[in-house]
Amino acid sequence: MKKKKIPLRKCVACNENKPKKELIRVVKNNEDVVDVDLTGKMNGRGAYICASKECLERAMKNKSLARALEIEISDKIYDKLNNIIDSNKQL
Ligand SMILES: [Zn+2]
Repeated sequence: MKKKKIPLRKCVACNENKPKKELIRVVKNNEDVVDVDLTGKMNGRGAYICASKECLERAMKNKSLARALEIEISDKIYDKLNNIIDSNKQL
């Protein structure tokens, strides 16, 4: 039997490789608009971050998300990520 390969992506905050479903994708599209991509299907340059407050705080502090996407990340995006992480915890 062949083992199924789980696609791994690297979190920009902790640099750990994790299954995509444990991460949140943030995308910068062709028009330099940044958004949180919950479908995983948005076009553009993507960066991944763990669905954890620890990694979000780390990414805000050292701007690793901004560096990965080569663009300033607005508070709106960080708020959105924060809300998503909060709602994940209630599941
Ligand atoms: Zn992480």
